[in-house]
Amino acid sequence: MVDKLAIFGGSPVISEPFKPYPSIGKKEEEAVVRVVRSGELSAFFGSDGPQFLGGREILAFEAEWCERFRVKHTISVNSATSGLFAAVGAVGAGPGDEIIVPPTTMSATAMAPLVYGATPVFADIEDDTFCLDVESVIQKITDKTKAIIAVNLFGHPANLSQLRKIADERSIFLIEDNAQGPLASENGVFAGTIGHIGVFSLNYHKHIHTGEGGMCVTNDPELALRLQLIRNHGENIVESRNLKNLKNIIGFNYRMTELSAAVGRVQLADIDSHVNKRINIAQKLSKKLCNLTGITTPMVRDQCNHVYYVWALKYDEKAVGPSRKRFSDALTAEGFPNTTGYIRPLYMLPIFREKIAMAKDGLPFTNSEGSYHAGSCPVAERLWEKEFLYFEPCAYDLTENNVDALCDAFIKVYSNRHLL
Ligand SMILES: *Cc1c(COP(=O)(O)O)cnc(C)c1O
Repeated sequence: MVDKLAIFGGSPVISEPFKPYPSIGKKEEEAVVRVVRSGELSAFFGSDGPQFLGGREILAFEAEWCERFRVKHTISVNSATSGLFAAVGAVGAGPGDEIIVPPTTMSATAMAPLVYGATPVFADIEDDTFCLDVESVIQKITDKTKAIIAVNLFGHPANLSQLRKIADERSIFLIEDNAQGPLASENGVFAGTIGHIGVFSLNYHKHIHTGEGGMCVTNDPELALRLQLIRNHGENIVESRNLKNLKNIIGFNYRMTELSAAVGRVQLADIDSHVNKRINIAQKLSKKLCNLTGITTPMVRDQCNHVYYVWALKYDEKAVGPSRKRFSDALTAEGFPNTTGYIRPLYMLPIFREKIAMAKDGLPFTNSEGSYHAGSCPVAERLWEKEFLYFEPCAYDLTENNVDALCDAFIKVYSNRHLL
């Protein structure tokens, strides 16, 4: 009786929805009040002078970020999307250039090349880490390749040192989309700092946040300056600085406010606690659920630290029995919040299917075109269509008991799978 599945009218293992993660507290409140009382909600000016680089909170936040991530330069921006756009601009990409990206990621990763008139070329992902497959990347490199954007998907680092080596050998750039991977690492080096430029997100859903926001990091002073120029009306600055390379220095307003920076400083000071909470949840789920036939819990590559923005498992319908959808519905009925699929491979979006990105028909795809047909990245498609089943540790405030209940709910559904 106790074991009757909730989907058949039994009582659910988890009867109350989990509370959202309480990311903002007293210290953030004090920081905001401090800035509001100062009256200076932003101190940026879009012209040469000290305020070209922003105000007190921005400068402090960037310096603290450099120290925490052991990197020379940090350029705050108003979102990771802006950060990715700025990164593609900074490396000098333009029409005719190709940029290799994975298809399984938030869409901004693949839009960044397009805003500069370059074309994204999709390489497939690995079946176990879900990050760019190095062999597939090598196959996609051509004379036109300008950069690779590796995504540290779900909080697991891509093969970053290998990709960096490939990039350096060919004099192209490695940009890391590290929106999901703060404190992830490879061989003890932080994800985000292995590529030429790394981009972090501080949007509300990420491990730490400022509502909206992003951070670009680099160890290269020239790239740092180019990122600063793109962030803040660079066209006004180049003469006074006697800068010769004007390419892609059209400046935007990607500036972060003093308010966001003040909140970000508090979040950064507590980053270990915010990230470790999510890691603990995911590790516990993995430990209890790793021995179920047909269920593959997240893999962590040797010498890597995974920070679990998403805890994603692979569901093998043939081995388990019921369809993924049916299994997922039964989990949901038990109160286990889960989702199937993750993001549809991006080349299936209308922008790629119809090759309409700009007001001039066909551009930039007429310069060069990635492979945008169904079947071009078979691993990404299979994972999306058939296998991904995932949970978002960042979304909820979970006690040890809650995590136990998640495991119990999963095992209850799994044990009764023959009934589904
Ligand atoms: C969240 C996210 C982004 C975009 O971040 P914003 O700060 O919302 O612009 C980009 N890439 C990935 C992989 C993300 O998860």
